[in-house]
Amino acid sequence: MQGDAYLKCIDPHCGLEYPIKSTNVECEKGHLLDVKYKNKPSDSLKEIFYQRRNPQGNIFNESGVWRFRELLNFCQIDTENIEECSKYLVSLDGAEGRQSKPYQMSKAAEFIGISNDKLWLQPEGYNPSGSFKDNGMATAVTHAKMVGAKKIVCASTGNTSASAGMFAANEGIRCDVYIPSGQIAPGKLSQAYQFGAQIVEVDGNFDDALKQSLDDAKNHSGYTVNSVNPFRIEGQKTIPYRALEYLKWESPDWIVYPGGALGNTSSCGKALMELYQWGWIKKIPRIAVINSEGASTLSDLYNGKFEGEELRWNKGNTNTELITRYYDHLDKEGIRPKTKATAIQIGRPANILKGLRALEFTNGVVTTVSDSEMLDGMSVVGLNGFDCEMASGASVVGIKKLINEEIIKKDDVVVGILTGRQKDAMLPVEYHNNPKNKFAIPPKN
Ligand SMILES: [Zn+2]
Repeated sequence: MQGDAYLKCIDPHCGLEYPIKSTNVECEKGHLLDVKYKNKPSDSLKEIFYQRRNPQGNIFNESGVWRFRELLNFCQIDTENIEECSKYLVSLDGAEGRQSKPYQMSKAAEFIGISNDKLWLQPEGYNPSGSFKDNGMATAVTHAKMVGAKKIVCASTGNTSASAGMFAANEGIRCDVYIPSGQIAPGKLSQAYQFGAQIVEVDGNFDDALKQSLDDAKNHSGYTVNSVNPFRIEGQKTIPYRALEYLKWESPDWIVYPGGALGNTSSCGKALMELYQWGWIKKIPRIAVINSEGASTLSDLYNGKFEGEELRWNKGNTNTELITRYYDHLDKEGIRPKTKATAIQIGRPANILKGLRALEFTNGVVTTVSDSEMLDGMSVVGLNGFDCEMASGASVVGIKKLINEEIIKKDDVVVGILTGRQKDAMLPVEYHNNPKNKFAIPPKN
């Protein structure tokens, strides 16, 4: 099958290609895949994207994902033809990404120690299922529909299962959510239950649950929607698109993300690589990834804290044996990722190689922050009237830390991504009931 869009292995020494309707999430040698486009979109589209912000009843213009549909046109459709769009593109009535754009938050800027007009924070929690995942789920489920999948599957204990369940219910297809048996508080799966997903309990840990969900996809015609799915990455490219558009396509100096499975880092890197290659941006923003201290795989490896070697993409010559030895070391020492910010409590980031590629392209940095710092970050966002989850606090305090270390300069323009809305009702209550916390407003009597 020949068309404008196809899949290609990310390993430059392998480079195997597959037709766009392939449901492989890896090449046959086990490397991750990219969605590639042969055509170079004209930057006159910038004006069209801007005009679509007045959607005039068209849900695909209203959608913060599909507004940019020419830049992720893996369906290879005529993007101006609304009937064709409705036949192919999956959308929750235009709600995905619709409300996400960068905001100035003066109290966060003051806490960080940066001037208010240099800091932009983008709340992705204002997506219909409450997290950034809806950006990539809209595109992944679009691909699932394109290949005629009757069931989507994922391993997740949080935001991914909520988003997958929501889109599956809306499209009238099944959704199976794999979880490690007996280890997950049922409340965490509340949204998955609400959307009628089938919970499947697996003996073992989260990695075993993921493995079984991938097997199910391969052998029982399920369709994987974890972030190893390259179409997830396509939708998540719209997070930096919206930030850049708001800044009139003038690149900021930094884009800052909390680091978990590294799907966000990967998609931001891919978006920037493409925009730069197409001549849409002249300057490449640097990506900063903020790990939790308790789940610091990327930081440990990138910063040479394990065996003294700084792990790099190295033009596709990554020392993957170093990663394997690091994981063996975690197993041998019984080290499990541990942080209250469950959205980034990940020891084996599935997209680590794409993440490293993004960091190399953008001259990125990686650092860590503590749980109590993240809670301060989460809470100061709240004082500006915006909701966010604890992992999102990592962006705020990560920026603060990097400014204190003079890695981010005080006059740099910084965009921080707030990945999700608060879903752990007790976290703010506990934070504010402890008067020792920096931003606590304890109850009075
Ligand atoms: Zn390959």
